[in-house]
Amino acid sequence: TPVTIIITVIGVIVIVALVTVAVLQNKPLLQKYKYGIVLDAGSSHTALYIYKWPAEKDNNTGRAEQTHVCKVKGGGISSYAADPSKAGESLRACIGDAERMENSTASDRVFQAVKETLESSPFSYQGARILSGQEEGAFGWVTVNYLDDRLKQGLETTGALDLGGASTQISFVSDNFDGSESLMNSVTFRLYGNDYNLYTHSFLCYGKDQAQRLALAHQTQSGLEKILDPCFNPGYNRIQNYSVLYDSPCVSNRKPQTAPTSFQLTGTGNYRECQKIVRSIFNFTTCKYSRCSFNGVFQPPVQGGFGAFSAYYFVMDFLNLTDTSMPLETVKEKLTSYCSTPWDQIKQQHQRVKEKYLAEYCFSGTYILTLLTEGYNFTSESYSKIKFIKKIKGSDAGWTLGYMLNLTNMIPAEAPDTPLLPHA
Ligand code: AMP
Repeated sequence: TPVTIIITVIGVIVIVALVTVAVLQNKPLLQKYKYGIVLDAGSSHTALYIYKWPAEKDNNTGRAEQTHVCKVKGGGISSYAADPSKAGESLRACIGDAERMENSTASDRVFQAVKETLESSPFSYQGARILSGQEEGAFGWVTVNYLDDRLKQGLETTGALDLGGASTQISFVSDNFDGSESLMNSVTFRLYGNDYNLYTHSFLCYGKDQAQRLALAHQTQSGLEKILDPCFNPGYNRIQNYSVLYDSPCVSNRKPQTAPTSFQLTGTGNYRECQKIVRSIFNFTTCKYSRCSFNGVFQPPVQGGFGAFSAYYFVMDFLNLTDTSMPLETVKEKLTSYCSTPWDQIKQQHQRVKEKYLAEYCFSGTYILTLLTEGYNFTSESYSKIKFIKKIKGSDAGWTLGYMLNLTNMIPAEAPDTPLLPHA
């Protein structure tokens, strides 16, 4: 079995293993499949994805699809900084888990190959790289449009909105953008014979977890011992260590000179007040271009439909707000009501949800709405064209599939030759 391993990394590690496996299907024919394995080491978690496609139809009629995803136990990749070998160990557990779940010959061989590969590689990040935010955004866009068959058919494309823990990306095709106003936001592709000029931007520190740190840093800049935080439900209480809060490059330069070891955070659950705090983490005033989203970043007006995934989906799904035909005003009312619900009641109603996530949904929902409407300038009308999605046709929306398709040249630049029609 030929195994090619390419190790790359994105804030985040990416390992792509390509494996060709012959599988006996119902028919007596030997059908060959290729498998791609991509590892996404995100800021808060690591996941292993396996994709499969018919070997003979790489760039023609066969579509690559996700056959497996496995979440690696433990924290994000940066939590292994002190002991990198542990990162390899955590991964092996995930592969072992997957082996037990799958028992087809094909899967066994794939997992065996990956296992051997990972075991033979010291997993020391040699040749690893960090995928740029721009690439992350662009590959997310490729994934969404590939899975929707928009690229091959040359249909109007869908924009992509990705919200991670550390950063967030927006990517879309705009009629008002040819790259000239801001080259660094421009990515061009030629796919299936069509040229695409994509606008893309990645905001580091504006992922859900770092945005929350920015908001807390804003409220604690004078080194207070107690804060009343409207982004947490009433009755929510916790002691937060100052060093832990400020232990991130997104906020470290804002650490108050004199502060106690910790502060007490008490929720007051008020959407409008929470939104004021969320607004304070954006700079809406400086812009040297014709128009900006925030923090002086150029952005043309949003255009067309969008798919919003990762934490966008987790949060909006939990809050029952994935239906974007609901007017924005109603969305705000529902969020107001969620934020003001007492913490005890929230815990009672959602006993199976991790407390860490549960406590954050008021902030996260407020952040998402503010980012979309005031950051990216979605209006009531354009908001209704956003679809909060987790999967498309069985594959997770995200950058990993697009990354693999690109790496393996699975999307041809030119359209395959159209077969000549037989004469009548
Ligand atoms: P990353 O690790 O960078 O891909 O970021 C994933 C983000 O999604 C982090 O902010 C996680 O906290 C968040 N997340 C993952 N699962 C959930 C969930 N069930 N509810 C809310 N947030 C989640």
